[in-house]
Amino acid sequence: MSAGAPAAARAAALARVPARVDHYIDGAFVPAASGRTFANLDPTTGGELCRVARGDADDIARAVAAARRVLGESPWPGLLPRQRWRVLHRVADAIEARGAEIAELETLDTGLPITQARGQAARAAENFRFFADLIVGVGEEAFRVGEAFQNYVVRRPVGVAGLITPWNTPFMLESWKLAPALASGCPIVLKPAEWSPLTADLLAHVLDEAEVPAGVVNVVHGIGEEAGAALVAHPDVPLISFTGETTTGQTIMREAATHLKGLSMELGGKSPVVLFADADVDAAIDGALFSIFSLNGERCTAGSRLLVERSIYREVVDRLTRRAARVRVGDPFDPATEVGALIHAEHHARVVGYVEAGVAEGATLRAGGGRPPALPDGAYLAPTVFADVAPSMRIFQEEIFGPVLCVTPFADERDAIALANDVRYGLAAYIWTNDLRRGHRVARSMEAGMVWLNSQNVRDLRTPCGGVKASGLGREGGVHSLDFYCERQIVHVALGDPHTPRFGLAPEEGAS
Ligand code: NAD
Repeated sequence: MSAGAPAAARAAALARVPARVDHYIDGAFVPAASGRTFANLDPTTGGELCRVARGDADDIARAVAAARRVLGESPWPGLLPRQRWRVLHRVADAIEARGAEIAELETLDTGLPITQARGQAARAAENFRFFADLIVGVGEEAFRVGEAFQNYVVRRPVGVAGLITPWNTPFMLESWKLAPALASGCPIVLKPAEWSPLTADLLAHVLDEAEVPAGVVNVVHGIGEEAGAALVAHPDVPLISFTGETTTGQTIMREAATHLKGLSMELGGKSPVVLFADADVDAAIDGALFSIFSLNGERCTAGSRLLVERSIYREVVDRLTRRAARVRVGDPFDPATEVGALIHAEHHARVVGYVEAGVAEGATLRAGGGRPPALPDGAYLAPTVFADVAPSMRIFQEEIFGPVLCVTPFADERDAIALANDVRYGLAAYIWTNDLRRGHRVARSMEAGMVWLNSQNVRDLRTPCGGVKASGLGREGGVHSLDFYCERQIVHVALGDPHTPRFGLAPEEGAS
């Protein structure tokens, strides 16, 4: 790529940004009922990219009403799985056809490096294909009770699904919820994150062009406490799938309790990477660096705490430090960039606040810690490595959600397990060892929903995805997603004459 190519890609993306991003309700792009908008900012400059419709309870009510009509009038929920399969594959085709455009808008809006945004766009298409195929393949359970009963399960869409998504890899995460909800037959109201509205808008256009019927997917933009809260409070939305911060999840659960809504909660993480001395240390270092610095460290499953067996601790810290200093930070549109700009100046300040807390609490800053000198503007942070991080420190305990790695030594297997589990979160864990038995043993001791042994985060879409402790409730992925979006009704069918104790056969009063 020539030196001017990143600038040209950026200019092309900018040219595609609408002056105002509108809601998508009942198959039409419409402004907020109130006419209000909010600013969407460029992470690399802090300048305004566009205005965005600022949704509130009125817009949510319109969107939910459109989605409810689908339940009553549109054939969508009752289509044969094979027919929904066709539509979902059309969506996937459209995403693939517009993959470059999606990646460029995502990079513009979020600061994600372009090569990684391309990968996320491809994964979004894969999500639609995967759930399309799953819905035609999945069966329904039947239970025979000898010759007496045949009982069978009927899956049916729960109703209007409320989806609330975060700003990290927004397009992919939206597809991760939309695809199974659509495959299950649920009409949808999506409330995307306010810091990353552009690809959610593009997704609405893709769905429109793929002829997903009007009202089946509705997108309402807005601030979490306004549009998001209104979606959670709406009585005609029986389930909410939420991905975001743990504290937001707690707020949503409290509100959802009023209406007894179904909830899927994919929340924060502070995932350990446990590196034993017997591991393939080269591979582990590659995995650890990728785990914390890919996606700008703004990744729920980031391996943000590296726990290293003491005998190789110094060597590993030295090697990590040298590598971190060589990670390429810069223009997210440059294909050579490995770490781009963080999403927003406010988030940048939060991450920098954690770096300052780490220094103040006595951790050893080995790499990064500040703005790269060549990047005086924008939300950039040099890849940061802290060594000698004690479990009592905030940087060990709290989710930073940026390119900041905390390294801590451990003495033995017991110590490693205790350190790994010594946080409130339990999303992912990564274990590196060549001792097979120890690998399995430690994996099972992890208080984490997802464990990788000798690998960074490589997903298998069929498997349950989610966390324990403060990292979430419920599981998405594979049939687990369908289970969430489908009600499973059991029909009991008597084939013989079931025994029924006979009531009401006492002699009538007064009878002689
Ligand atoms: P956030 O909680 O601030 O926002 C997420 C979404 O919730 C946004 O759309 C926001 O507008 C909305 N929201 C905020 N307040 C709300 C309210 N009161 N009612 C309803 N909706 C509300 O999270 P974020 O900063 O956008 O995302 C980063 C967080 O997401 C991190 O903690 C990260 O670990 C987590 N995450 C988890 C997973 C997972 O699979 N477990 C995946 C990605 C991100």
